[in-house]
Amino acid sequence: MPVPNVRHSEVDVLIIGAGPAGLMCANALANARVNVRIIDKRAVKVATGQADGISPRTIEVFQSYGLGERLLRESCEVHLAAFYNPNSTGGIETNKVFRLNGVEVALHQGAIESIFLDSMKELGVEVERSTIPTSIELSTDENELTDPSSHPVRVALQRLDLPEGESKEEIVHAKFVLGADGAHSWVRKTFDISMDGEQSDFIWGVLDMVPETDFPDVRNKSLIHSNYGSCLVVPREADRVRIYMQLADEDVINPETGRVDKDKMGPEQLLKVAQKSLHPYRFIPTNGISWWTLYIIGQRVASKFSIKDRVFIAGDACHTHSPKAGQGMNASMNDAHNLAWKIALVLRGWADMSLLSTYESERRKYAQELIAFDKMYSTLFSGKPMTEQNRDGVSHEQFLKAFQMFGGFTSGIGVHYSPSVVVNDSNQELASGLVIGQRFPPQKFIRAADACPIEIQDLLPSDSRFKLLVFAGKFGDPAQQARVESMVKDMQRPECFLNRYAMPGKSSTDSRFDVFTVSQGRKDDIQFMQFPAFLRPHWSKVLIDDIDVTGSFGGNGYSRYGIGPQGALVVVRPDGYVGAIASLDNVEELDTYFASFMKTSS
Ligand SMILES: Cc1cc2nc3c(=O)[nH]c(=O)nc-3n(C[C@H](O)[C@H](O)[C@H](O)COP(=O)(O)OP(=O)(O)OC[C@H]3O[C@@H](n4cnc5c(N)ncnc54)[C@H](O)[C@@H]3O)c2cc1C
Repeated sequence: MPVPNVRHSEVDVLIIGAGPAGLMCANALANARVNVRIIDKRAVKVATGQADGISPRTIEVFQSYGLGERLLRESCEVHLAAFYNPNSTGGIETNKVFRLNGVEVALHQGAIESIFLDSMKELGVEVERSTIPTSIELSTDENELTDPSSHPVRVALQRLDLPEGESKEEIVHAKFVLGADGAHSWVRKTFDISMDGEQSDFIWGVLDMVPETDFPDVRNKSLIHSNYGSCLVVPREADRVRIYMQLADEDVINPETGRVDKDKMGPEQLLKVAQKSLHPYRFIPTNGISWWTLYIIGQRVASKFSIKDRVFIAGDACHTHSPKAGQGMNASMNDAHNLAWKIALVLRGWADMSLLSTYESERRKYAQELIAFDKMYSTLFSGKPMTEQNRDGVSHEQFLKAFQMFGGFTSGIGVHYSPSVVVNDSNQELASGLVIGQRFPPQKFIRAADACPIEIQDLLPSDSRFKLLVFAGKFGDPAQQARVESMVKDMQRPECFLNRYAMPGKSSTDSRFDVFTVSQGRKDDIQFMQFPAFLRPHWSKVLIDDIDVTGSFGGNGYSRYGIGPQGALVVVRPDGYVGAIASLDNVEELDTYFASFMKTSS
């Protein structure tokens, strides 16, 4: 039989792996109208199980892509965390219940993936399943590597499901490749990227069920420290509950083979372990165990997240950690969220290739912090609790302090990117509540044109554009009004970033930037037409720091953001992070910020 010709094709971005990281990236790139393909070796998607916790920051990210409504509709909200310790009668009792640092939601990975798959389908992108890469080569030609329009990555793909005789091979020439292929990443191994950290792995048992129970915190996230082991109870959608248990090697590993033995620890045995830790509370599955796994994971970070800023790895491919801090899916999807806009800007010719190096500097540092947190938390979680008999054990206060101390971190809200070409940490004092390098925090304002209450984060979608927020201060004050008018003149200079990087044929504020104005004052005293036309390119773009008519929303935004009556200019990156702050009198500082990575249109 003749060997069929091998097909060659070109693509801007090839994503290998359609888990949460790969799908987040594919959806973000599809939204940015990037030419993207995504492959996965699995013939069908994950149906249920695996990761399930979505942090407050990840919810915001879903909202920024217009996917928040469905996520919230399908998932289960978690507001409280309860802590249980051993009591004097051999059972457990709660001694603290407190509010989480922002609402979390829980939904199984299969449903999360469906949200992305449906969104991508509308944009014409679908996962190519039963497909694996068999080789990957990166050009060594420096000219090719530095030219964003070149295709320096050559990937051979193989289809696993085609009948005999049909060509199963294709050579893809890609501008960029993302390895989002999970903890055993083929891309990572092929480029010989080491995983640094602890060599030993931990074994977790996981059960999903709808329980019949008298446990009072069954609808709260509950961290149980008992004399029979620790476990974590997480409420889930549709009355389900998930229980995580960290298991001892000897309970799971077959000493002869050194491998996990599912006969030693199946769902019945896992249920017994859980029931023992949760005694005296009853936990009886009403309809059997709906999903279970033995999940083996180490605490490691890849030594590199990119090769020459042409091949990247994201998600479990570059960091693994225990599931108890609920970060697996979150960290993975947020890697992709960080990378996608940078690739999109480079492909559009808006940004220099050097922007791409901030993916590794920002996300690897975060991953290292996550592993350090996970190690500390794991030690406390798996340590014996302090009791009358065991005075050296982990005290309840120690555990609680760790949980609270890292609340900002695990919620994703405290994630902080260090200074770089896209994070300029000057002028923090002008807006002390908007931490440069952290995500822009939510706040309700009143729209000047119609007094409608508006959540400012809703004006910051992940649409590849930088947002310029002009906090105009007390516009009613004549001196401040004069400052604002002088600032507008500065912004109309040809060399100002808004004009320098304008898209040919479009108005300066209609292209790479979106401009909003936020004024101090009362709605009753302010008409939006009072503002210079430059600051109100559309009627919806002027906000006032006032309270809505019901008295329920808005007000105190300036004081929350630490901005005085003299105002401030705030740049928000396309991923929602504060990139730079400048005074109204110093627009040139923003010219310098954008000049460090942005390119003029050719
Ligand atoms: C069995 C299992 C159980 C888990 N249980 C939990 C849990 O209970 N709680 C928790 O928080 N986390 C759990 N996790 C981890 C969680 O699923 C991950 O942290 C999260 O999904 C990370 O997303 P990711 O996209 O980086 O990787 P993954 O979700 O692993 O996705 C990687 C994708 O790449 C594909 N792929 C891999 N190799 C190739 C290849 N060579 N070619 C093409 N495609 C490839 C895979 O099929 C997969 O679809 C579990 C993971 C597994 C595998």
